Amino acid sequence: MHTKHNFGAGPCILPQEVFQEASQAVLSWGNTGLSILEISHRTPEFEAVVEESCNLLRELMNIPEDYKVIFVQGGASMQFGMVPYNLLNENETAAYLETGVWANKAIKEAKLFGHVNIVASSKDSNYTFIPKDFVIPADAKYFHCTSNNTIYGTQMQAFPKSPVPMVCDMSSDILSREVNVADFDLIYAGAQKNIGPAGATVVIVKESILGKVDRKLTSMMDYRVHIEGGSMYNTPPVFSIYVAMLNLRWLKAQGGVKEMERRNNAKAKELYDEIDRNSLFKGTCAVEDRSHMNICFVMNNPELEKEFLKEAEAAGCVGLKGHRSVGGFRASMYNALPLESVQVLTAVMKAFEAKHA
Ligand SMILES: *Cc1c(COP(=O)(O)O)cnc(C)c1O
Repeated sequence: MHTKHNFGAGPCILPQEVFQEASQAVLSWGNTGLSILEISHRTPEFEAVVEESCNLLRELMNIPEDYKVIFVQGGASMQFGMVPYNLLNENETAAYLETGVWANKAIKEAKLFGHVNIVASSKDSNYTFIPKDFVIPADAKYFHCTSNNTIYGTQMQAFPKSPVPMVCDMSSDILSREVNVADFDLIYAGAQKNIGPAGATVVIVKESILGKVDRKLTSMMDYRVHIEGGSMYNTPPVFSIYVAMLNLRWLKAQGGVKEMERRNNAKAKELYDEIDRNSLFKGTCAVEDRSHMNICFVMNNPELEKEFLKEAEAAGCVGLKGHRSVGGFRASMYNALPLESVQVLTAVMKAFEAKHA
């Protein structure tokens, strides 16, 4: 039985209904007489799953016609390399916004394939804010940013008007708020935060930016091969895509991304209000850049942190320990986490203050 409030940063909580339906499909899927784990990906039944998942993403995110939606493997980390490999020639320069560890890893990979211009960085302040006054050079091949910095708890509340194609790592806030996909040329996201279980990676790409690099591309790293193959050039992560479809159905039935945004705002307000009110705690990031997905906070007296973590765990709140590069706590509040779980956490914070302040 699911008894915990899961604040883990990823893989993340999914709706209980999704867990239930997925577990049933493991035993026997629909009318196939087979488990979803053994079904051939070349069956019409599974082809329908891929098609529905892509169509749901299109509908939920309002993805324009001239964009392709594919599922690939290798996680967002594979995209760090695949993006420059497909878009950047050796003598060309790509512009990157450095807002954390993930952005940094993307930069490292891009340098293998061409030149990188870091247009701005918040590294000197341990990534506690999103740089805003920067210029994207008009001769850059593309501009890359990270919409939500999972580790540091910062989130881009607005995106720059880019003179060049904009690429975005949306791994940790895709489907959590409305974005205008048409402002971007390539969006990628590992599935395991808000989309489904780990194993699949979603890529949304404007087809016209592809096919322009000089290098020869190996098939598995070529977006066009996956587009051509309908996400089935090779065996896709069948179960991951299936559960993603269930989750996307759930999301649509709940009222879509707009409703998720409303809920996520309410959850974030509940926790940030308590962090700001409670004399024992403080937030770690610039207020205007605070993430609604991953909330980082510490205690004024770090010696109390272990005890707080224990009390939170006793109340069923798990996954709260902060990333080692920030310390303290991180509450990840993905779409499926109910407001009630956040209220359990804020109640623990209040009780802890009554005891220690
Ligand atoms: C989790 C995360 C990644 C890494 O994803 P993998 O699928 O594990 O490679 C990259 N970028 C961001 C913003 C993330 O949150």
